[in-house]
This record gives sequence, C-alpha cells and structure tokens, in this order.
Amino acid sequence: MSPCSLDLLRAGACRALRDDLEEPNPFHAYLSTGTKRTYEEIAAARPLHMLFPLPGMLFQPSSAPLPLPTWFFVLQIFTQALLSPGSHCWPASWVELHVHLDGAIKPETILYYGRLRGISLPADTAEELQDIIGMDKPLSLPEFLAKFNYYMPVIAGCREAIKRIAYEFVEMKAKEGVVYVEVRYSPHLLANSNVKPIPWNQAEGDLTPDEVVALVSQGLQEGERDFGVKVRSILCCMRHEPSWSLDVVELCKKYRQQTVVAIDLAGDETLEGSSLFPGHVEAYQEAVKSGIHRTVHAGEVGSAEVVKEAVDILRTERVGHGYHTVEDEALYKRLLQENMHFEVCPWSSYLTGAWKPGTEHAVIRFKNDKANYSLNTDDPLIFKSSLDTDYQMTKRDMGFTEEEFKRLNINAAKSSFLPEEEKKELVDLLYKAYYGMPPSASAAGQHP
Ligand SMILES: [Zn+2]
Repeated sequence: MSPCSLDLLRAGACRALRDDLEEPNPFHAYLSTGTKRTYEEIAAARPLHMLFPLPGMLFQPSSAPLPLPTWFFVLQIFTQALLSPGSHCWPASWVELHVHLDGAIKPETILYYGRLRGISLPADTAEELQDIIGMDKPLSLPEFLAKFNYYMPVIAGCREAIKRIAYEFVEMKAKEGVVYVEVRYSPHLLANSNVKPIPWNQAEGDLTPDEVVALVSQGLQEGERDFGVKVRSILCCMRHEPSWSLDVVELCKKYRQQTVVAIDLAGDETLEGSSLFPGHVEAYQEAVKSGIHRTVHAGEVGSAEVVKEAVDILRTERVGHGYHTVEDEALYKRLLQENMHFEVCPWSSYLTGAWKPGTEHAVIRFKNDKANYSLNTDDPLIFKSSLDTDYQMTKRDMGFTEEEFKRLNINAAKSSFLPEEEKKELVDLLYKAYYGMPPSASAAGQHP
C-alpha cells in the first residue's frame, strides 16, 4: 500500500462508521441508500484506524449474518485503499496553520444557500461559480477583496450555513491529508447583529458574533469527530475595524475550551499605522494577559516595518506570511534567532502579488536558513487550490525535498497553538508517520 493510499484512508471521516453503528445492519445502510454516499467518498474519507475494527464487527457472534452485498462493500473499501494513487504527495500528514474559513467554502454550498435564501449569484453551476470567484492570475488587492462580495452575503447571517461550512471545511482538510489544522475567521464578518457596520449590506438580524463562534465551533467539533482531523480555530480582528478587536479577544477567552486558541489581525496591512490603532493594541495586550496565543498578518504586501510592529507592539508569536521580513536583515536575523514561525502561503503569494515571479521567494531563503515556517493554502476557494498545490509548487519550482517537507511540518506542529501535552502528541504522531518512530529526547526545540 503506497503512503498515499494509507493517507487516503487515514485522513478521512469516521462519519460513515458512526452512522453504521447506529444502524442495526451497519453496512447495509449504504447499500440500500446509495445516494447517501458513494463508495468512493466513503473509501476516500474513512481513516485507516477506523477500518481495522471492521473485520471484528463482521464476525461478531451476536449480530445477524451479513448479506453478500455487505461483503462486497467491505472488499471494495479495501481495494479502493490499495489501488488509489491518492491526489497528494508525501509525507501526507500535514499540519496547516494559516487558512481562512471564509476562503475555504465549497462552491456547491454557496450555490445551495444562494438558492435557499433567494440571494442571487453570478453563476448557476459550481464550475461557473468557481471560475468567477476563483483566480488564475495575479489581481490587485481591491479585485481580490471583491471576490468575497460575491458569496459572503449568502453565508453571513445564516446559522445553518455557518455551521455547515465549518463542518465541510474539516472534511475538505481530511481529504487533503491534514492531521492538524488551525482555521481562522472574523466572527463579525459572518454576523448581522451586534456588529457595526453590518457587513455585506445585510439587513439587521439576530445573529451575533458570539453565536457565530458557537456555531463554527460546533461545526468544527462535529467535523473533528467525523473526519479524524484535529482542528482548532483562530479569531480575526480586522485592521480597518479596530472597534471590533476587544470583542474578538473576549470571544477568544469565552470559547477557549471550544476550539479557539488564538487571536489574529487580518485585512489590509498597508492601512497606515493600523498595527498601532488602540483597539488592536489593547486587544493584543489583553490576549497576552489572558494567555491567548497571537498571530498577525504582516509582511505579506506590507513592509518589514509592519512585521516589526507585530512582534514588538502586538507581541505576536507567529507571523502570517512575513515575506518582506527578509528586506530588513537585522530584523530577519533576530527573528531567526528567536525561532519565530512564518506562516507561508506560496500559491497565495503568487496570486496576490505578494511575491513577484522572477525574484527569489522568501520561502527559499527560509528553507536555506533552516527557518521555522509552514506551508498553507490561505484561501483555497479563491485560489482554486488545495494544500497539494502549495507542496507541488515548492517541490516543482523551488526544489523542495521530502526531507524539507517533513522538517517544516514538524516545526509547524511545534509552533501550533495547542497546549504542550497535545503539541507533544501531535509531534509524536508526525515522527511516527514520517520516520516510523517517536522523536528522540534530543529532538526537542526546533527540528534541525
Ligand atoms: Zn491570511
């Protein structure tokens, strides 16, 4: 079995099994309700460890004999696992730390809620919608932001849609071979009550940012349970709305037991002096005081100075993107020494113009200097991508090796915002997946 096939199984869902267990005759449920899930979906989504109990279940003396089609079903799952080449390359146990929930929605789901809520969209099929929302070549920041205007009104303010995109997000990541992900979003941008101004030209409703966090957390937790991916969330402040930021840090505190691990600052970092807006500064001070982890979008299109502000004023623990850090040699050396983590999004950096092809990408410098960084998708809906796109891009165009992918993923795990004990479990899991053994005691600190 190739590592990809293994991963295909490992990375997926337990939902099928959970439903199975609720059925008197587990596998028959799928044979009789063929529309519920195709064989391919189940095989692609069912994690390896969930397959092992199957033979035991089949032979349970107390259960009624299983019909012949059931045996075919089980056989089919195993055959699928053995033969499927998988869509991604090694090591296929990824850690992703920088991805936006509202930039990672299935086009089908947008269409569904557009129709359900009577909100018009510029396309009738998922493919057409993907083409309109998605990007193939670099666009300006306003053109990029305009993409959100198409579909955010469809999702924002709708309880069912918000919970569903969170759930489907986990499913999407399971299929990509992700074992741990931190997903971020602005609760205010999905609300239509207790938020000023009300975003996306929505009429005032009764969905508050607080309830948005509750809904997303529920969707993520259900996804965790069903798809076997560990998920945590990060709540975003927006640079142009400093009046929301204190709310955001309070929500981080309130929901810290329900997936929320950190605060972020997103939006247009070229907005003059926005790192110093009192709302943001106070929120980050409160985060430090309350033990809420911190990351900041900085040095993506903004200068190294924005990175410096994020580190020195907002006391960030990770830098979102951070490419322009390398333009200030002293700052870069200092952050290398401090083992600062850079959340790199290669394909995103091409499409947003944060990186100009023909120049050396900062991630090459990070690789050569053995910096602490991760590879991430950022907004896969808009960039028409998956995590595989970013790994293929760095492998094909920048000479990244399997060893470097392992190294950066272990560093990503070590830079995650999980509590120490859970972080150690995650690091152990990666070592076992990559090297077949747990880390030695000497592997503490940054992976060499
Ligand atoms: Zn981002």
